[in-house]
Amino acid sequence: MTGLAKGAWWATCGAALAGCMLAAAQPARAPDDGGAAGAAGAALPAVAPRNVLLIVIDTLRQDHLGCYGYGRPTSPHLDAFAAAGARFQHCLAASSWTEPSTASLLSGLHAARHGAHEYSVLPDELELISERLAAAGWRTLAVSGNPNASPQFRFDQGFDQFWFDDSDKAREYPDVSELVAHAEALLAQDDGRPTFCWLHVMNVHGPYVAPEAFRDRFRRPGSRDFPFQSEVWKEVMRKGEVARRADVTPADVQDLEDRYDAAIAWTDDVLGRFLARRRATTAGQNELVVITADHGEELFDHGGFGHGFTLHREVVDVPLLLCGPGIAPARVAAPVGLVDVAATLLELAGQLPSVGGAGGRFGDGQSLVPLLTGGEFERDLPLVAQLERERQGQAFLLQSWPSRLIETRVDYAGRRDVAELFDRVADPAERRDLLLAEPERSTRLRALLAARRAALEAQGMAAQRAALDPEQQRQMEALGYGGP
Ligand SMILES: [Zn+2]
Repeated sequence: MTGLAKGAWWATCGAALAGCMLAAAQPARAPDDGGAAGAAGAALPAVAPRNVLLIVIDTLRQDHLGCYGYGRPTSPHLDAFAAAGARFQHCLAASSWTEPSTASLLSGLHAARHGAHEYSVLPDELELISERLAAAGWRTLAVSGNPNASPQFRFDQGFDQFWFDDSDKAREYPDVSELVAHAEALLAQDDGRPTFCWLHVMNVHGPYVAPEAFRDRFRRPGSRDFPFQSEVWKEVMRKGEVARRADVTPADVQDLEDRYDAAIAWTDDVLGRFLARRRATTAGQNELVVITADHGEELFDHGGFGHGFTLHREVVDVPLLLCGPGIAPARVAAPVGLVDVAATLLELAGQLPSVGGAGGRFGDGQSLVPLLTGGEFERDLPLVAQLERERQGQAFLLQSWPSRLIETRVDYAGRRDVAELFDRVADPAERRDLLLAEPERSTRLRALLAARRAALEAQGMAAQRAALDPEQQRQMEALGYGGP
């Protein structure tokens, strides 16, 4: 299969490509331990994209999107976007809450390396993708609705313009439509330079804000309005308050799911219209667009609610969709991580040389370009995820496909130093812990995890903890973070 013609790439999505997409939908081979499964053998265009848009939908679980098999109609626009480009089937977040995971997304470094685990200022020595592109003459823009991915923690490194406004601390976050309007205003100040724009939207984050028409679309009979900001909510969000979980009924959980889905559908609708307007511009027709999430959300899958407490699949499996000139429709089966995104974007933007034809590196991340072009992709070291929060939780995950080993300091039941082993292919919902049933695999992976963790921490930077004022502290608590 050849790459798409240059020009209005989105316009080619449709019936004409149906056969092509079906062919590309078959993974070349099952991904194995650290290996690769190639996608379509597409040729990338000789000319780099004019712009790169990185859209992060905060708290978006992969399995609540139609293009990842969800049964409810939450994401028609994202599904069409996914069908027109590359959809990575297994993308591992770097952590299960915003700050460390977004720092990894932008730097390509694992959390143990950048050290920004909780309310930390990103170290100066950290190189973000924005700094690399700015040094190459790109215009660099950011619009973020999340205080945990904002200038207060130095996420503005390398950005010419960074829109962030939390002057109204009483509201949870700006609506996705408002954030998109700010991104469009910045993009419109086009001065002819190639542009990188990171847009970080928030409605899928609790309390899952969506217009009533979208709420109505997903409200099922028998669901009960779960009160956000109530004492039950606050105590359920805090690890260790296990007893209060009994106060959350199945009708409450149904309401949470309904609200969550409505917020996805609203976000999908706003972003779908935004991308359509981009496509109508000259620059937008040669624009590389990436859509992903910083982490997912627990909806009582493993006994908890929210994020940033555990590393189970509902909080670390995120969507990764890539669409743009020369990106052929494909499903990529090889497991990848958010740490790989920066390297991939840099290489596609012509700003990162590939190493021996095997894709370039940025931080710990490996460029995924070979997976888009049928080239060689060999993961050199296992992917990891990490949670290191003072009160809410500490855990470390090592992925050696299809195995996932998770070591948790204290679990929801109050048990200490818990290890769990899951097979992501045989048990996608992570219901069967294989730790005792497979002692050999467990022992091998626990040793690998310890060695990998020690090696990463030995190369860690010192990220200084930021001092939050009482208002910032209250805002963190309103978002469910508890604060330091
Ligand atoms: Zn987040």
